[in-house]
Parts: sequence; C-alpha cells; structure tokens
Amino acid sequence: MHKFLCIIKQGILLTRRCFWNFEDDIRCLNPLLNKLVGGSATSQHCRGEAADCALSPRFMTEPSMSALRREIKTRVTEITGKLLRPDVNTNFMLFAYVCLNLKELDIDQVIHEYGEDFGRPAWVHIASSRRMDKRQVLIVGSYTKWRYLRLTVEETLAYAT
Ligand SMILES: [Zn+2]
Repeated sequence: MHKFLCIIKQGILLTRRCFWNFEDDIRCLNPLLNKLVGGSATSQHCRGEAADCALSPRFMTEPSMSALRREIKTRVTEITGKLLRPDVNTNFMLFAYVCLNLKELDIDQVIHEYGEDFGRPAWVHIASSRRMDKRQVLIVGSYTKWRYLRLTVEETLAYAT
C-alpha cells in the first residue's frame, strides 16, 4: 500500500521536474505540432505537471499486489455499496486508487481517458502542481460522447460497479 503510494508520488514529483510523456514532450516543445494534433497550449503536460499513466497488466495477477487489489475493491464497495465489476482493467485500478487518495497524492486532476468503455480506460491522466489543488475527477471517451464529464469520486466509482 505505502509502496504503491510512494511510486505514484515519485512519478508526480518527476513530472513536475521534467516532461514525462515522450509524445507530449515533443508536442509541447513544438507548439505548432501541438496545435495540429488539437492539444491545449495551456495543458498541464506542457508545464511538466501532468502525466498519462498506464499500469502493467501484471498488476492484476502479481501476488505481491494482491493486498492492494483487495484494498481498492474493498474501498470501492465501502463507498458505493456494490462490488467492483470483474471486467475493469488495470488502468481502472490505478484510476480508482488515485480517486481514493486525491488528498494524499495532492491531485489537481485525474482523468479516466478513452478506452472502449468506462472501467477500461486507455490510460489515466494524473496532474499535480503547487499552484492548484482542484481535486477534480473527470472522465472522457466514447461513453461521454467525447466530452469531459466532471463527477464526484462516489459517482465515478459507482459507474464501475
Ligand atoms: Zn494527459
């Protein structure tokens, strides 16, 4: 549990100092390219404050992570009163974990981005900065008709039960 929190925190600290995502890195260094691909010039990626994160599928089977998997499932059930859907993917587990630890991780924004369905994001956008503490939870994809939908942690987690 604490180890995982530390890994994410270190990742966030790293994004504050350098560009995390190679593609974003290129985009932000080249404003014209960023514009062409529809990226926002004010994106937190361009300030090194955000990272698009994906977790290895091994997280679902790795024995040393079983306590953490159980804890995420238990906390989702405590909050929603229901069981987490069995078909959620590894990235959703990361998303849920960040949602459950918004304050501890000092999160501005966490976004469940794309993927074929809610509960199966293609990646998780995680942003943290010293300027803001917005604690926003957003989802975007075909399941929101490509619009950013802002939800509470409770509403978001309930979608995956
Ligand atoms: Zn992003």
